[in-house]
Amino acid sequence: MLIVAPSPEAARALAERLGPRAQAFDRADPPLVAVPGPVDADIAAGHQVLADHAHPLSTFALHPQPHTVRLGSVTVGQDFAFIGGPCSVESEDQILRAARGVQAAGAHAVRGGAFKPRTGPYAFQGHGEVALEWLSATRRHTGLPVVTEVLTPEDVELVAEHADALQVGTRSMQNTALLKALGDIRRPVILKRGFGNRVEELLSAAEYILARGNPDVILCERGVRTGHGATRFCLDVSAVAWLKVESRLPVLVDPSHAAGRRDLVEPLALAAAAAGADGLLIETHPHPDQAWSDAEQAIDLDAFARLVDKTRRVLDALGRASGPQRAAGGTAS
Ligand code: PEP
Ligand code: MN
Repeated sequence: MLIVAPSPEAARALAERLGPRAQAFDRADPPLVAVPGPVDADIAAGHQVLADHAHPLSTFALHPQPHTVRLGSVTVGQDFAFIGGPCSVESEDQILRAARGVQAAGAHAVRGGAFKPRTGPYAFQGHGEVALEWLSATRRHTGLPVVTEVLTPEDVELVAEHADALQVGTRSMQNTALLKALGDIRRPVILKRGFGNRVEELLSAAEYILARGNPDVILCERGVRTGHGATRFCLDVSAVAWLKVESRLPVLVDPSHAAGRRDLVEPLALAAAAAGADGLLIETHPHPDQAWSDAEQAIDLDAFARLVDKTRRVLDALGRASGPQRAAGGTAS
């Protein structure tokens, strides 16, 4: 049972009254108290009670308006956001060149992994902390917000010092310790759907972050395993449409990991835009064939520019707004 409390203090007091089985989420908006099983009528009286609602904060249950998230020059959920960049940050020069290239094509943020969650231990694991420094330098030079993945709760503070949005990868979607740590910071989180998870479980993961007081969660569909596709993963366009109806959080789509090959990235991106996605996360590399990770699915800077252009035409045809054509410029060259 979930009880909506009028204030953080009221949530804490109510949880105290209900005893050890109750949990107060006093930083949630609105504050909540969760209790297994029924509560006495006198306690329930005077409160809004949501009987076993699994997703009170990520759906419209308590807030009638969709949530938007500011990321540099773009308001994700209101304007369509383009985020491009390499799978891994390989060098300071590589990430800066990628950032400049995607920015010239109209991207609103640059992505690049410093800590890489690779399937096997022999694959490149990322440069770690020094790559975070290169991402910060890239932001200073270009003015583009930076998106990068965080793998462990211990790294959340460090990554948040460098990133404008922290990505939770598909393999980490149910790492509840990580989700809780991300609920305690004030930075947007891009939460990717686990490739073997139901879309409702994606919302449950989002609730972990929202319940601890970080409202800025952006969902990301990146393809699921079906076992009968020719592609690396199957882009779940149904999930995108479902989330746009059922959830109040913005929804990005990453067609790169779904496709697993570069010639399929653009058609999947266009399908995502048509299905209602709020933005795209595209693996883009100045020299895709030389990429240290996910080379097969990386597109080059010209292909990124064409993809942005075609996506804008889809959005125009649907009467949807896309973000500013050029993101804010940087300070130095
Ligand atoms: C990535 O964005 O490079 C990545 C590892 O994505 P995913 O977690 O979706 O596989
Ligand atoms: Mn990748």
